[in-house]
Amino acid sequence: MLNKGLSEEDLFSFFAQKKEEDLDYNYILGSMCTPPHPVGVRAHGMFMETNLGDPGLFPGTASLEQLLIQRLGTLFHLPGAGGYATSGGTESNIQALRCAKEQRKQVSRPNVVVPESAHFSFKKACDILCLEMRAVPLDNTLKMDAEKAAEIIDKNTVCLVGIAGTTEYGLVDPIADLAEIASDQDLFLHVDAAFGGMVIPFLDRSIPFDFSLPAVTSIAVDPHKMGMSTIPCGCLLTRDPDMLNILDIDTPYLSVRKEFTLSGTRPGAPVAAALAVLDYLGAEGLRAVVSGCMKNTRRLIDGMETFGIQRAVTPDVNVATFICNDVPGRWKVSWTRRGHLRIVCMPHVHRDRIEAFLKDIGEMYA
Ligand SMILES: *Cc1c(COP(=O)(O)O)cnc(C)c1O
Repeated sequence: MLNKGLSEEDLFSFFAQKKEEDLDYNYILGSMCTPPHPVGVRAHGMFMETNLGDPGLFPGTASLEQLLIQRLGTLFHLPGAGGYATSGGTESNIQALRCAKEQRKQVSRPNVVVPESAHFSFKKACDILCLEMRAVPLDNTLKMDAEKAAEIIDKNTVCLVGIAGTTEYGLVDPIADLAEIASDQDLFLHVDAAFGGMVIPFLDRSIPFDFSLPAVTSIAVDPHKMGMSTIPCGCLLTRDPDMLNILDIDTPYLSVRKEFTLSGTRPGAPVAAALAVLDYLGAEGLRAVVSGCMKNTRRLIDGMETFGIQRAVTPDVNVATFICNDVPGRWKVSWTRRGHLRIVCMPHVHRDRIEAFLKDIGEMYA
């Protein structure tokens, strides 16, 4: 701690210098984050001091959270869905598993069945919740093998998880098949659509993944990824609007007597931002964003293949992966656990960025 405070000028010149050290989104091709939409930034600034952890003090902001859940529930074919705004996919997944475990309290050694492609947040969740994580192998298209999932489930399974838009390969697991299994075995089915939830509803091709499948119990979706909200904003949606109450604990000193959230103090600003972007763009605007990202994904795959760099899979959403070992250094790409080059065609990855990248790749592999 400094003894005497800095002048505002000194402080912000130091911050400006630090900000310079951050990478420029123009060259970031491997992230699921993107600069927030300007209306999101404006809304965020307006609700900066709000705390959703004490909603009785901020009823207006709390009603925006309800609206956000309602919008997303409607998008997922269940306008009356329950849920709340989390800090992201990790918290949404933890909370879904917490509910699933709580619902089957009598199971002494509970396990959760997830695909091998599951996001690492499930490891954290299982660790915290003392759940055994059973990973189901993928089929040759790198999607969860539903038949193998059915074999791995036993009487101690408290939750079955499918991914709608895998983080690494942009694939949607066979959620309809998982729903059949979940329905047969009366299992909690959680769909992790942290990334895909804001993409799949706007694709030309319809892929079943949401509450239109009666066995889907809960869905995680992240407005701070393809929803272009400010960070952090995730959402957990539940078919039963009261499901989360199973997690209620008493909160003696707040404006509400109980809460089911994982965090205590929770920011209202990114929630307002997420709703602002949805309501400003509307379904039409979001469809245009997704359509642009998908076009760029296809252009990137075609362009890479003309250089002889083959795709690893054909993705369902805007994540492109390749059999490729190296890219020019200025581009910030990422690599999957299987060693494939991974590029996420987020809204900031405009067509000219794809062309510039392809030109560099062309020179490197010529
Ligand atoms: C990004 C992602 C997560 C984790 O979300 P955070 O917001 O980083 O906590 C979980 N699951 C999937 C499928 C994701 O893509």
